[in-house]
Amino acid sequence: MFELKRIIDNLDLVQLSKEMYQLMTELYPICRSITGDGVRKSLRIIGKIIPIDVQEVLSGTEVFDWTIPKEWNISDAYFKDSEGEKIVDFNKSNLHVLNYSVPIKRSLPLTELKPHLFSIPEHPEWIPYRTSYYKENWGFCISHNQLNQLKDEVYEVCIDSSLKDGHLTYGEFVIKGQTEDEILISTHVCHPSLCNDNLSGNVVSAILAGLLEPLSLRYTYRFLFIPGTIGSITWLCLNESKVSNIKHGLVAVCLGDSGSFTYKRTRRGDAEIDHVVTHVLKEAGQKFDVIDFFPFGYDERQYCSPGFDLSVGCLMRTPHGQFPEYHTSADNLDFVKSENLGVSLSLYLNVLDMLENNIKFLNTHPKCEPQLGKRGLYGKIGGNYDSHSFQLAMLWVLNQSDGLNSLLDICKKSNMSFDLIRNAAHALTNKNLLRKAD
Ligand code: ZN
Repeated sequence: MFELKRIIDNLDLVQLSKEMYQLMTELYPICRSITGDGVRKSLRIIGKIIPIDVQEVLSGTEVFDWTIPKEWNISDAYFKDSEGEKIVDFNKSNLHVLNYSVPIKRSLPLTELKPHLFSIPEHPEWIPYRTSYYKENWGFCISHNQLNQLKDEVYEVCIDSSLKDGHLTYGEFVIKGQTEDEILISTHVCHPSLCNDNLSGNVVSAILAGLLEPLSLRYTYRFLFIPGTIGSITWLCLNESKVSNIKHGLVAVCLGDSGSFTYKRTRRGDAEIDHVVTHVLKEAGQKFDVIDFFPFGYDERQYCSPGFDLSVGCLMRTPHGQFPEYHTSADNLDFVKSENLGVSLSLYLNVLDMLENNIKFLNTHPKCEPQLGKRGLYGKIGGNYDSHSFQLAMLWVLNQSDGLNSLLDICKKSNMSFDLIRNAAHALTNKNLLRKAD
């Protein structure tokens, strides 16, 4: 009952935060997309932390109502003015190219170039992040200031990309538990140089997986490092037989900004994960929001489609689109803070610790109260708790353990901390006054 708790209590959060930030720094320059070498390279780097299993699925594969697209790769992109000066250069920021741009090499007047340029007038210094996955197009993303300075002349445009039959690549890492019941942690790996959305989710997931790997836990853990939308659709389609094992799940996203936590509930809205995350956030004592499910956002849309309806929520800091830096060059290494990653990691660990221990017990002596004194439990001090609190906690657990109430249910009814209730249950189990209800 204390495997994860021991890890949490002895966590070197400063060191782990540094490791996550370092990993993010290594991943940051890579030009990722929903397919291509950027994802492969990123998975190789994450693979140094945990031995990820990398899967390749052929372009053209039908996955439910979708088809795996052609693989996109890029080596260079720029456009030059009439003096040969590079106005934008992919090598300075991979956000400069419309992600999934088809190749082009041509001279164009400004009037023909302009429909292919994207900027953000409200934030004239920033470069936007734009994609065109399912419609062939090409383009450049530039700061609005730069756009306004373009002279009315002919530009040499070059995008050295390829869009060919290849593969969609994703990473999977499974930690076998004592049961086949699974907890899914899913994170998207398709964004190029953007930190909060979603390198933060990638690094928290990787380090979390590394911490869980050596432990003996109740649940089996499945970590997915997948391209957004098409990745989860692909995984669900190719692994439909495994889906029923998934009992709880979280989409790990936007975990490095300085905003408070937001939990987006599962489609069902009252799944165990919904109660657990809400309670962990309450016990953390900081401001937080819990919002209902809605069918846009990240991969929870696919996990919570009606044909699957999995208990998968989304645990993030500031939700997508609600921070101005979202999908711009300002979502960078300065925007994400290592200490925020650390607190996010710690929150995820606490959620998993509660899920692992949110067990239903049966009182083995349900007719009247069992006598605690003769078992050495009367006046006992449990963990960091005084004997009075511990006594009350044991009485609550004994009274409510009818096989219907979980430890979290008892914790809510008694208004005691989960850890106190867990300690009481542990002491009672050791004296054979409780046994697990199946
Ligand atoms: Zn995004």
